[in-house]
Amino acid sequence: MQDFENIMENIQMVDLKTQYENIKEEVNSAIQEVLNQTAFINGPQVKKFAAELKEYTGAGYVIPCANGTDALQIAMMALNFKPGDEVIVPAFTYVATVEVIALLGLKPVFIDVTEDTFELDTTQLESKVTDKTVGIVTVHLYGQCSNMEVILNFASKHNLKVIEDTAQAIGAVYTFSDGKKMQAGTMGDIGTTSFFPSKNLGCYGDGGAIFTNNSELAEKIQIIANHGQKRKYYHDSIGVNSRLDTLQAAILSIKLKYLDKYSKARNKVAERYDEAFQNHPKITKPARVKNSTHVFHQYTVRLSESINRDSFKSYLAEKGVPSMVYYPLPLHLQKAYLEYGGMEGQFPISEKLCNQVISFPIHTEMEQEQQDYIIEQILNYFK
Ligand SMILES: *Cc1c(COP(=O)(O)O)cnc(C)c1O
Repeated sequence: MQDFENIMENIQMVDLKTQYENIKEEVNSAIQEVLNQTAFINGPQVKKFAAELKEYTGAGYVIPCANGTDALQIAMMALNFKPGDEVIVPAFTYVATVEVIALLGLKPVFIDVTEDTFELDTTQLESKVTDKTVGIVTVHLYGQCSNMEVILNFASKHNLKVIEDTAQAIGAVYTFSDGKKMQAGTMGDIGTTSFFPSKNLGCYGDGGAIFTNNSELAEKIQIIANHGQKRKYYHDSIGVNSRLDTLQAAILSIKLKYLDKYSKARNKVAERYDEAFQNHPKITKPARVKNSTHVFHQYTVRLSESINRDSFKSYLAEKGVPSMVYYPLPLHLQKAYLEYGGMEGQFPISEKLCNQVISFPIHTEMEQEQQDYIIEQILNYFK
């Protein structure tokens, strides 16, 4: 019984504390080193981490910045998107993606997602393009790549820029039909990511990065992220102040070394869930995008329509099993973005998913007995 309570107490959506404890010495000494140097802004660790991340991802250039939302904004500024331009973006994603589009005076044009993989529905792209369309922001939701081959071909045919929001999928690998493999964030014109603590590569505060293979774009991005200046106090363009601070970079260098191990651990958890929910009448497990590996930022299932998700969630909470709904309301029905959508039934799959998805605990330190307990509780509900 004591063991049992212990298990329950420790179950979290993401267990950052245990993860930290397992790398504590390395992290503490890296932090201490920054403190000793007191180069809190633009210290050598920032360049070092950027170089390591470039090596890891295979991106041509990596420009660190303050967070994943800034990364998206800087990407669109660097691509010269102008007020009134239209940008295609999924209706089912985290708000940041559409927020910066609206903030820059661009027009978000929503597109629905596929019911099984939750990714942008490429079959609808054609119907979204007008003579004002300048780009597509695709989101590698929950940890696997969108159908990049189709998106890139479509974009090049219509002369559109592609931004990959890789905040949830760092390390995922996409294989093109010619066998070429590329990492999430390195395939489009620009890729963006977030190092928010709970992301797969998370720091201990805010952080983000921008990827590109284009040297001109890389320079532009660098300048925009630094107040539009190349030379201190000479401002060639309007920029922003968006930096990854040195402490975070030092922590990220350590965590990057473990990223593959972490992805493996997440996949193991996902596989065990998959097995448990195989052919379940009420739970549909997440489908895999063909050609992409999955890094399982989230393990998200669909419940059948007959299930009251709120009751299920409360039941799980009572059993000590946390769960989350990413996301409860699609973007076209959010108050702030009604002018770009606003109609129920407009994006039926996104709306349906918002009512039916639920994410279960998944993280790098999940113990088998914890997961056994979680699975048992979930399955018991439907007995
Ligand atoms: C987390 C996240 C962001 C934003 O990242 P921040 O670092 O919190 O600004 C953007 N897009 C997606 C899909 C995310 O999951």
